[in-house]
Parts: sequence; structure tokens; C-alpha cells
Amino acid sequence: MDFSELSKDKIIEALSLEGEELQSLYDYASKVKLAAVGNKVYYRGLIEYSNRCAKNCFYCGVRQGNKNVDRYTLQDVEVIEAARLAHKKGFGSLVLQSGERSDTVFTEKIAFLLREIRKATKGELHVTLSMGEQSEQTYRLWRESGAHRYLLRIEASNPALYKRLHPNNALHSFEKRTEALELLRKTSYQVGTGVMIGLPFQTLEDLADDLLFIKKMDVDMVGMGPYIEHEATPLFQFRDQLLSKEMRFELSMKMVALLRIMMPDINMAATTAMQTLHPEGREKALKIGANVIMPNLTPLKYREGYLLYENKPNIHEETDVSLEKLRQSIGKAGCVLALGEWGDSKHFRERG
Ligand code: SF4
Repeated sequence: MDFSELSKDKIIEALSLEGEELQSLYDYASKVKLAAVGNKVYYRGLIEYSNRCAKNCFYCGVRQGNKNVDRYTLQDVEVIEAARLAHKKGFGSLVLQSGERSDTVFTEKIAFLLREIRKATKGELHVTLSMGEQSEQTYRLWRESGAHRYLLRIEASNPALYKRLHPNNALHSFEKRTEALELLRKTSYQVGTGVMIGLPFQTLEDLADDLLFIKKMDVDMVGMGPYIEHEATPLFQFRDQLLSKEMRFELSMKMVALLRIMMPDINMAATTAMQTLHPEGREKALKIGANVIMPNLTPLKYREGYLLYENKPNIHEETDVSLEKLRQSIGKAGCVLALGEWGDSKHFRERG
């Protein structure tokens, strides 16, 4: 199969490849990655700031309707300490992630933390936010307070599938989510999105459309990985319809490889969900297309509270132990850890 021109039909065909042909897809994607962005891997230190969320996505373990979750919000000092640690260890960047809230107390607090992080790290640490849909005013406030990048996963680009994954109300509108992606571009963030792979009701055509949607949105960063079910969510009732975990992992690998071919110079994460389904998931993703890893810097005592899905790895592991394992994984994948660099998406830089 010729991978140089990927039409929708060809993407669907590639998502079904096996054996030697599948290996040729991976080899091709690996070459495209090396030519476009080289073999550097960038760290984004992840801080799961709060699991309080106003929303009720059907797939998510910390949805508001799950009453069995101990809700937490990190203290300011804990956030600043984690930022200092990332800076000291030579990470170029930090991801501050949270459940979605848009009240003024929350939005002002995030602006305050962004300013404090900037002070504490002499402006040397870039910050990515992942805090859901917000108003243009809030996006601007956070951008002016020091955020550089923003991750907002579309999760599923087919509006009909999106509706099956979310309650049918204004808070969970597909249109509002796509508009939020446009607003992020307008307010000059480096923009990231992503999807879940192997969802119930999802077809290969949906996945091909997901890749074409990501390309059309012309994003700078992508984080996508397998859907992993969580017992305390409405979507769990459809678990019998899921592909096996091995198949969801393989499908995610194909998606990463295909997207690298379609968008050679973006930043793409080897997601924790890939590692959850395969012990060497992150190494494998790095080899065939990914170039970003997000080590978890959330203080250990909170990590149990941020289980978006089940069996999330490393929730009991000290940061230094995780970092050493990661460093080894990166070497095994034939990649080099880039410390002391922001690692902006080349796609963003070249947009000008
Ligand atoms: S996916 Fe995000 S917005 Fe949806 S319920 Fe979970 S934390 Fe809230």
C-alpha cells in the first residue's frame, strides 16, 4: 500500500492492516517522524489540579454524577512546588489539567497560579492548560497570565457519536466544543486536541473522519489513545461491544502512525492510556510517531482521585522512580530526551 496520499478510503484500509503490511505502515510513519521532527522526546509534567467537574461525560470516572469519588483541589503551594520540580528537572513545560469549571473563583485562581508559576520559574517553564470549554474572555485572561498551549480533546468528531457519549444538554454540546477549539486558535494558543479510540458504537469510518477532522482543524498538538472503560460510568453497560484491549491498543498505534504521516510536524503524545493497555505502550508509540510524554507530577496522595478510566498506571509510584523508568523507555525506543527545551510544536512555529 502507498501511504503517501491518504484519502478517507485509504485511511480506512490502513486501519485494517495486519502482518507485514502493518509493519510497513509503522516503518513509513517512523521515517516520516524522523525526517520531520527528529528523535527528540519532550516532557510535559502533568499536574492534575482538581477532580471537581461540572460535567457528566458518560465515559469519565470523575464525572459529577459519580458520588464515590473523593473530590480534591491542590493547594496553591502544591502546584508551585510541582512547577519548581519540573523546572529543576529540566522539563520545558507543564500541563495543568482539571475537571471543567467556569465560575469566577476558579478562573481567577488559575490566572493567579499561572502568574505564580511564571514568577517561581523565571518564565522558563511553558504552561499548557487542559481545563475544558471556557469563554473567550477566560481564554484571553489565562493566555495573558502565562499559559502558552491548550489541550481540548474533541473525543469523537462524529456529532452523532459525540451525542451518545454525553448527556443531551447545552453543557455538553458538540458545536460548543468545536467553537472552543476555534476560540483557542483565535486567542493565540498552540492548540491541541485528540480522540478516544475503540469506543462502543465507533466505526473505522468514524476513526478515519477523526484523523481528517484533526488535520482540517490544523492543530499543533495531539493526544489520543485507547478508550478504557470505567465501572462507575454509564458507558460501562456497553462493555460487551468493545474490541479486546489488544485490538484497541493496535488500533491506537495505527491512528498514531497515520496521523504522523498526515501531519508530520505536529507534537504528539505517547499517552498514559496506551501504557495502560500495553506495558511497552509508550515506547511503541514513540517509535512510530509520538514525540511527547507527560510524566505525572501530581502529589501521590491525590492520584487515586483522578481516575478518568480504570487501571491507570503509576498512581502509587514516586516521581523519581517513574522518571527513571521513562528515561529507560525513551532510550529503548531509540529516542533522546530533550531537557531544557520548550519543545514547541514545529507546526506552530512554522505557521508564523
Ligand atoms: S471528561 Fe472532563 S469534562 Fe467530562 S466529566 Fe470527565 S473531567 Fe469532566
